[in-house]
Formats: sequence, structure tokens, C-alpha cells
Amino acid sequence: MERKRRSWRIAAAVLLVLILLLTACTAGDSSGGEEPRPQEPAEQQEPEEQTEEQPLLPEEDLGPEEETAAVPELVWINEHIAGTIAELEAEFPVTILYGDTALAYEYTFTAEPIVDEGYITGALDVLAEFLRDFPEGFLQEMYAGDGVDHPNHLTFLFSGKLHPENAGSTSNPAAYAYRIGSDQFIALNITHDTQLRITLAHETMHAIDSYLDTLTGWDTYPEWQDYLPDGFEYNNSYIGADGGDYFDTTYTLVSGGPIWFVDVYSKTFDIEDRAVMFQSMFAGTPDAFWVTNKRITNRMKYMASVIREHFRCLDGAGPTIWERLLP
Ligand SMILES: [Zn+2]
Repeated sequence: MERKRRSWRIAAAVLLVLILLLTACTAGDSSGGEEPRPQEPAEQQEPEEQTEEQPLLPEEDLGPEEETAAVPELVWINEHIAGTIAELEAEFPVTILYGDTALAYEYTFTAEPIVDEGYITGALDVLAEFLRDFPEGFLQEMYAGDGVDHPNHLTFLFSGKLHPENAGSTSNPAAYAYRIGSDQFIALNITHDTQLRITLAHETMHAIDSYLDTLTGWDTYPEWQDYLPDGFEYNNSYIGADGGDYFDTTYTLVSGGPIWFVDVYSKTFDIEDRAVMFQSMFAGTPDAFWVTNKRITNRMKYMASVIREHFRCLDGAGPTIWERLLP
């Protein structure tokens, strides 16, 4: 009995020690465990959380909901851009470039690349409508040249801001039209404030003039001076007497005197006068102030008649989009 009682006491003592040890360990864990935690850098936990969210990336184990939410919109936009460009390049003698590839043809300017899908799709939609508004075969005829003396191709370069290299340039150009050999280029700042349809019409008139001048040996409008005020001379510079952009308002709407020009810019060069008139005719509305101004519409009619004279596709054709507002 005495041995049994001793054994029980020893067992009870061991149990008590174990319980005390267990309690001490638990207490030690809770008190001692909180101290090291603040020392763990918080940054280490954030990457772990991100790692857990990495399935959001377009991997195979993507959840179907996340797949439809994020990625396909961009895929759709890029397919829409590529599809529209392919359609237009098949339908017209044109090439359309944007992003870094558009910068390869900088001329008397440097350009900022455009990669924003919203701007590009918007510009493509405007360009598609613009090209399809031309009479059937017009652009094809203009670019059916031999590729040596006559242009046989038109390239549109979509970019952001354009920076003139030439001090004689206008300060914030919306676009440039220029020819390198037989290649006609139209470089556009598609983020510019000016409506793109107006800019496209303006620059395309420069391209039409360039084509016609090649055909006629730079004698395209022999009677042009007859449609200008007596003794009038264009400024023949984009720069005014004060060294800034030319801004002499004589003969314009705001002058208070007789009106001969759509705007001030028209008075810089004869090619700009024609480009401004063409953009007004192409993109204008019947309530435009110049529609009832015979000084301006007579010059517009002369310009339109010269264009007609040189395009076989316009033989016997009804009014073109740029002739529809003329009296
Ligand atoms: Zn111009």
C-alpha cells in the first residue's frame, strides 16, 4: 500500500509538473510570439498577397469570370484596329501606320508616337468614313502613277504631337502632307484639337494639288489670280511681320470689310487657300458663312472645275461631296 501511495504521489507530481510546463509554454507562446511579429517587415506580406492573386494574369488556370472581364476587351480593340486597317488597305491605295513604325517617315518635323487604342480606333473610324466619301475610283486614279514621277501610294501616319524642325513652320501643326519621290505621306497628330475629318480633307487637298502639279508641270490653276482681290499677294510665309504665326485679318470674316477668304490661314499661301476651301467644302454644312459669299464660292467653283478636268472618274458624274454646297 505504501508503495502504491508513493507511486500515485509521484504520478500526481509528474502530472502537475507537466500541466505547469504546458501552461508556461502556452503563455510563453502568446506573449513571446507577439514581439517578433512587428519586426517582420510589412512589405514582405504584400508580395505574398499579390502572389496569391497572380491567377488574374492570363494563365491557363484563369477563372472564367476574370477571363471575360479584363483581357478580351483589349484583344477585341487590337483586332478591330488590325481589321479596319486591313480593310482600308485592301479597298484603297493606302497604308496606315501608327506607333513607332509611323516615326520612320519623319520629314521636316519630329513626331511623338501614339499607342493609345482609343485614339487609334477613333481616328480609323473617321478615316474610313472620309475615304469612302470620295467618288468611286478617285483615290485609285490619283495613285495609279508609275511610281517614278507620279505618286502611286498614299501613307497615313498616325502620331501624337508634331514638332516642326523648320522655324518657318506654323507653331502647332495638326498634320503635314509631303512627298518623298513617288510616295505621298500625310502625317497626322490624331490628338490635335482640330476635327480629324477637317484635317484629313485639308491635307488631302495638298495631295491633290501635288498630283495635279505633276500632271500639268506646275501650271494647274492658270486663272487663279482672277479670283483674288485686285493686287492681292499671299503672305508666302506662315510667319507674320511680328515673328509669330501670320494673323492679318484683312479680307476675312472678322475684318469688317469685304470678305474674300474663309480664314486668315488661307492667306499664307495659295495651296493653303485651296486646302482650307476644300476642307470647308468637304466637311462643311449649308449654314457656313461662306456658302452665300460669291467671292469665295466663285474661287471654290474654279478649283472644283480644275479638279474635274483632270479626273476621268468624274466625267459625267454628279456633284462630289466637296461640290455639294456650291451654288
Ligand atoms: Zn495646309
